Amino acid sequence: MRKRVVVTGGAGFIGSHLCERLIADGYSVLCADNLLTSSLDNLAGLAGEPGFEFLEQDVSDGLAVSGKVAIVLHFASPASPVDYARHPLETLRVGSVGTMNCLELAREKNARFLIASTSEVYGDPAEHPQRESYWGNVNPIGPRACYDEAKRFSEAAAATYRSLGTDAAIIRIFNTFGPRMRPADGRAIPTFIRQLLDGEPLTVAGDGSQTRSFCYVDDLVDGIVRMARSNVPGPVNLGNPTELTILDLAHRIRELAESAVEIRHVPLPVDDPRVRRPDIGLALELLDWRPVTPFEQALSQTFAWCSAHWAPAAHTAGPATAGVPVAAPVAANAATPVLAS
Ligand code: UDP
Repeated sequence: MRKRVVVTGGAGFIGSHLCERLIADGYSVLCADNLLTSSLDNLAGLAGEPGFEFLEQDVSDGLAVSGKVAIVLHFASPASPVDYARHPLETLRVGSVGTMNCLELAREKNARFLIASTSEVYGDPAEHPQRESYWGNVNPIGPRACYDEAKRFSEAAAATYRSLGTDAAIIRIFNTFGPRMRPADGRAIPTFIRQLLDGEPLTVAGDGSQTRSFCYVDDLVDGIVRMARSNVPGPVNLGNPTELTILDLAHRIRELAESAVEIRHVPLPVDDPRVRRPDIGLALELLDWRPVTPFEQALSQTFAWCSAHWAPAAHTAGPATAGVPVAAPVAANAATPVLAS
């Protein structure tokens, strides 16, 4: 008898890779998703798979599942700054009420529960790299608050249910990329790839000296599955500790595409974290996990996927950070119009 896993947000970017991996590992999967920022196209590879079920459901409205459930993985949420700026109430709800509903399901089924939390719980971090012991530096009323604070609430809910006997655990996911990202989700990597494909300037926010650390989705999913199978409560950081500036990222993507499009500086979004890099010592020690895919390889696989799958019509117009409040006044060096190619 296959163990059954419920994946909320399973039609999303990370969720769909996770569903595929779970099916490949011999689990049966019930994917619950309201398709707000996700797509059934992401599940095309699972069509006809007997162990896979799809339920179109907003888990903020409830999550009733009949039969046995061994694991509940709560991945449903808008997750890019542009998406949660567009859907702030849905983001608040799915992180709070949605998380409670998923925890109740786990409690009812006596299942293990995993919340997909985020490096955003560290906010604009005063500790670098970020260890799980760090409590963070989040603006509770800023434009990212609907996401950051909803995820912090999720963590509080998971910790509380754990104290009451549910096997609830927390992972904190850092920046992740790979196939199935959407051309208009606003994140740096898909935005730069879309701009390259369209021959547009790459929009680097501020002077581009802010850093991020990007993990390939297959590596991340492997960490998630290890955590789901373990009895580790977390929180555990999952991400790639290789850190680079956003300006460096733009240069690397441009080199990969052998393109000479210009790099154009645009205003930095409000509360954009200055630095971000996970300390993954805990994941290594407790889950024997670390990312293994070389960055350039991951980037070129992602680029190839985007070139093949993004129809020109899907390239919705508008600046990359559309909908995200920008910092005022603009950083002095953000006025630099163009970097030589
Ligand atoms: N960014 C950028 N240009 C873009 C999109 C994003 O310079 O077109 C910057 C953004 O301001 C941030 C970094 O890239 O400093 C990562 O942004 P992303 O939206 O990918 O994720 P975040 O880590 O901020 O959630």
